[in-house]
Amino acid sequence: MHKPLPEKIYSFMPPIIIQSPNDGQRLAVAGGQWYVIDENMTLDYLRSIWTRIVGGKAIEPSKVTERVEYTVESSRTGEVYTITFGPSGSHCTCAGYGFRRKCSHIDKIKTQHSL
Ligand SMILES: [Zn+2]
Repeated sequence: MHKPLPEKIYSFMPPIIIQSPNDGQRLAVAGGQWYVIDENMTLDYLRSIWTRIVGGKAIEPSKVTERVEYTVESSRTGEVYTITFGPSGSHCTCAGYGFRRKCSHIDKIKTQHSL
């Protein structure tokens, strides 16, 4: 018996969508569970409700799923820096970031936009 799709999926592997060879039903498969889904269900949605579990612990996904860019003007020099946030992390065009891989601009944007 297949279960209905829960609000949240917790598993190690990300969910996948398959079509049952027996009855043609679309199913989401995650964490050894099979969930019945309708034909409009997308993998993007499943990924959005999915949280990876490793060793019984939930790994919170980054809140940033798309690349977003912000610009910050230096209060000291008036120079404008571009700060990029994306699934692979944050980046800034300032010299400080180039040296240290972190800088006050990223912290500022993070605080402002609660990233
Ligand atoms: Zn910076």
